[in-house]
Order: sequence, then structure tokens, then C-alpha cells
Amino acid sequence: MSDFKDKVAVVTGASRSIGRGVALALAEGGCSVVVNYRKSRDEADEVVNSIKMMGGKAISIKCDVSKRDEVEDMFAATIDEFGKVDILVNNAGVAHGGSLLETTDEIWDIQMAVNLKGVFLCSQVAARHMVERNYGKIVNISSNSGFGIAMNGETSYAVSKAGVIQLTKSSAFDLGKHNINVNCVAPGAVDTVMLRGKRSEAEYEKVLEGRRNRASLGITGTPEDIANAVLFFASDKSRYITGKTLLVDGGRRDFL
Ligand code: NAP
Repeated sequence: MSDFKDKVAVVTGASRSIGRGVALALAEGGCSVVVNYRKSRDEADEVVNSIKMMGGKAISIKCDVSKRDEVEDMFAATIDEFGKVDILVNNAGVAHGGSLLETTDEIWDIQMAVNLKGVFLCSQVAARHMVERNYGKIVNISSNSGFGIAMNGETSYAVSKAGVIQLTKSSAFDLGKHNINVNCVAPGAVDTVMLRGKRSEAEYEKVLEGRRNRASLGITGTPEDIANAVLFFASDKSRYITGKTLLVDGGRRDFL
């Protein structure tokens, strides 16, 4: 597939897991990719090397998406290197559990800063450039936690992810006249570092089993499953779709 030949993408939080899968899939389609990370430089460089090994172009850029100056520097560096930004995938996220009664101010603030303000900042800085070129695709990563029903111990995470769904709609409304599509993918359970968290092997297997039982398809998602949906929204095949959220969750029974 060469849908992305001559396109340039910034993928936030691309040093591992879902972001890594998205970066590799875009590169496979011919896209030049900025692999953003905050701490995991070696892992980000491994993604860049994998892309180069397949004949693609990529660079890694360190940037905390919750900091405006760092976000502005990241997009300036992208334009210096590749000349433009066609695609932004707002994937970076953190997950700190906790019910309403357990959530500290610190946890609340970090969830909102990375998962919601990070999407706002990257979208705004990228969109200012995309507006000038009258072209852009922004794909946000929310979560089924933010989609509808409340789940155990995920208060601030779920609220941040619900915010991403509304931000997708508001951004799509504002940017449509500039030929910029903004859509969102809401993954279900995907086998990643985030989902595993600090659980032991046995605890993690129990979580996966519970998630599989909730999914009509009875399987756990992979980063590639999410990347496939992101690629659709990042491509011109979705030119008549904007402001929408697609659940990629194996058909969670409580959402059907
Ligand atoms: P992950 O394995 O924890 O990876 C998160 C990525 O985000 C890492 O590359 C991390 O890089 C980066 N990151 C974290 N904070 C950052 C910041 N402030 N600035 C820039 N990068 C930052 O998580 P994942 O499971 O792949 O999740 C990716 C996205 O999917 C998240 O938005 C998550 O909420 C969403 N999601 C995941 C699942 C799931 O089951 N896994 C389900 C629904 C939604 P560093 O290590 O360098 O910080």
C-alpha cells in the first residue's frame, strides 16, 4: 500500500505499543514519520531504525506533549526536516487508575495535561500549519473508557478520554473548511505496556481474560489492529468523514 507516498506524519508517543504500530504502518505506506517520545529515547530510535531498514524516512523527537514550548519546537523541527506536516496522530497517553474517592489532584492534573491538553496543543500547532496548506488529517486516540459507560477505578483517565472525543468533534467543526479531517479511534483492550501496568503475569492474564470475555470476538487487540483504523482516517479514503469516533474493541458486548 502506498497511500502515504510523499506524506509526512507526526505520531505522538510512538516509542512503543500502539504508537509504534501506527508509525511502522504509516512508514510501510510510504510516509515519512516523526517518532515522538518523552522519555524512551532508545525505544524511539529503535522504531526509527526499523523504518529506515524498510527503506523509509523517520526521525525521533523528544517532546512532552503537555508543554507548549516543546510542542512548538517539535513541529518546527519536523518542518525543518521534512518541509511540512500532513498527518498528526495524537496517541501519547498515560493511565493512572483511581476511583473518584482515590484520585489525587496530582493524578487528575497529569491525566488532563497529557491525555487532553496534549491533544489540544499538538492539534492547534499542527493545524496552524495545515490551514496554510489547506490540507491535513488529525487522528486522535481516545479509549472505550471515554466512550459511554463508567468503569471501575478509571475516573480521571475516562474523563480525559471523553474530552478527546468532544475535542475531535469541536476541532472537526472548526477545521473542516480548511480541508482538515479530524477523527478519533477509541481502542478497547490492547496488549501493551499501559494495559499491563504494574501487574504480575498472573494478574495481567486475568485482566486479559476478563476483557476477552467482554468482547464479542473473544480476542485481545494488537497495536496493528488500532493502526489499521488509524491508517483509514489518515488516508484520503476517509475524505468525507470528520468528527467521528470509531470503537476498535472486538465488539464489546455492553457497547452493542
Ligand atoms: P503505552 O504502552 O504506555 O505507550 C505510551 C506512549 O506514550 C509511549 O511511547 C510514551 O513514551 C508516550 N508518552 C507518555 N507520556 C507522554 C508525553 N507527556 N509526551 C509524549 N509522549 C508521551 O500506551 P499504549 O497502550 O500504547 O496507549 C497508547 C494510546 O492508546 C494512549 O492514548 C492510551 O490511552 C490509548 N489506549 C490504550 C489502550 C490499551 O488497552 N492499551 C486502550 C484504550 C486506549 P515515553 O515512554 O517516552 O514517555
